[in-house]
Amino acid sequence: MDDHRDDRHDDTELEEQKSADTTGETEEKKDDSASDYEDVCFICRRPESKAGKMFRLPNHICVCDDCMHKTMDTVSQFDYQGLLNNQNMDDFNSGKGFPNISFVNLADLRGDGGIPNKQKPKKKKKESAAEIDIRDIMPPHKIKQKLDEYVVGQEHAKKVMSVAVYNHYKRVATGTMDEIEIEKSNMLMIGPTGCGKTYLVKTLARLLDVPLAIADATSLTEAGYIGDDIESVVSKLLAAADNDVERAERGIIFIDEIDKIAKKKNTNARDVSGESVQQGMLKLLEGAEVEVPVGANSKNAMVPLATVNTRNILFICGGAFPDLDEIIKQRLKKKTSIGYSAELKDKYDKEKNILSRVTVEDIRKFGMIPEFIGRLPVIFTLEGLSRDMMVQILSEPRNAILKQYQKLLELDEVELIFDQGALEAIADKAMEKETGARALRAIIEEFMLDIMYEVPKDDNIGRVTITREYIEGNGGPIIDIRSRSAEHPDHLKEIRQA
Ligand code: ADP
Repeated sequence: MDDHRDDRHDDTELEEQKSADTTGETEEKKDDSASDYEDVCFICRRPESKAGKMFRLPNHICVCDDCMHKTMDTVSQFDYQGLLNNQNMDDFNSGKGFPNISFVNLADLRGDGGIPNKQKPKKKKKESAAEIDIRDIMPPHKIKQKLDEYVVGQEHAKKVMSVAVYNHYKRVATGTMDEIEIEKSNMLMIGPTGCGKTYLVKTLARLLDVPLAIADATSLTEAGYIGDDIESVVSKLLAAADNDVERAERGIIFIDEIDKIAKKKNTNARDVSGESVQQGMLKLLEGAEVEVPVGANSKNAMVPLATVNTRNILFICGGAFPDLDEIIKQRLKKKTSIGYSAELKDKYDKEKNILSRVTVEDIRKFGMIPEFIGRLPVIFTLEGLSRDMMVQILSEPRNAILKQYQKLLELDEVELIFDQGALEAIADKAMEKETGARALRAIIEEFMLDIMYEVPKDDNIGRVTITREYIEGNGGPIIDIRSRSAEHPDHLKEIRQA
């Protein structure tokens, strides 16, 4: 208890010293700085804009309403009534009682009764979260253009997303439009792993400058069971918005692996991580007020709560939906078996982009409940990556992996070139792994390691060309010395694919 008290005193001194340093000597300056900075609660460190009006204690200490009440509750467990009588008050004020707490009129401290110029809530953060102006919303073709700079292929997905996002923010900007309430454009994206679902959403959120929370549906369970409860996704978003509720209310929540919460088949046990999660998400998707803890991910007595309305939060769900293609094929085959010849049936087996023929009925058959699908009106698919797309992903996007390595070597004044054969060989290797573009980085890192290790050893190296042979393990890279050209200087001869 004593240690604690000492700490407090130290902090108080520091605080005083700091405020003396920063506020200057004159009273006038003090007021200036007061209008620039928000007051911060001495206990929970939240600023006035989050925690509400502050109680102002002597020595420039501010305590928020919540902390003050918690302190009071704690204090009330002691015999502070006894302390209040005159005999003990001297002890109390001389520091033997509770530090920094003297029993004064709380209304005075709160600003209702008189500290000048300090009561105005600072509006700084609020301004950043100003209302969206409909003219400021990027039109769909611009959104798509920007997405094109980063994401290769997926033309359909980019187009659908651009329009959906545009409509969504129009809806947010207007509230309702001529009495016809515009439906929320929550999305469901279906596509194999590593084809760019998460990447698209991340890029989108960055372009629009809105906070983004990414959650994994597999970790969610019905409230009260082991796992994160469903509302934790909103608290993640609040954290991504720096606890700014207004900003969070316009953010995006991406829930990955949504296919993992499909209804479990043939089970009699309570489906706490499947159907119940879908049920639990219904109200979030549509729009509800949820109380979420600020700065923590579980509710408990000591964590302040904030109320977030999910009405304007855009939900995007994504999943690979394995075996959905079988369900689609079955449906299509059933149709063809009425009246068409049997050979037509196998044509679906060979069709590459069968997923794009998905219907709501197929998704329902997969195990998503109709109410859930109904709240994700924008459904679209992404294609699996082809070898050509892989080659493009390597070198074309703004922050392509190869560009990143080229930049790194450029800092050593070494030029890095990948010949076309090398790109194709890398793409082939990635295709074998069947994890989409995710495999690319791992493969490149594997063989760039030796280059990144050896090149800085020799100042004479001016250019390194990566060849198909090097990637396939049949040769080394071509090294050009700054003035002359020489193949494989001695110490680089050893670089071979492991
Ligand atoms: P998933 O579809 O499983 O969510 P990700 O979006 O996480 O896949 O993709 C993994 C990585 O692969 C991304 O970080 C990105 O760098 C790259 N990537 C995947 N698809 C594309 C694409 N179409 N264009 C550019 N990069 C891509």
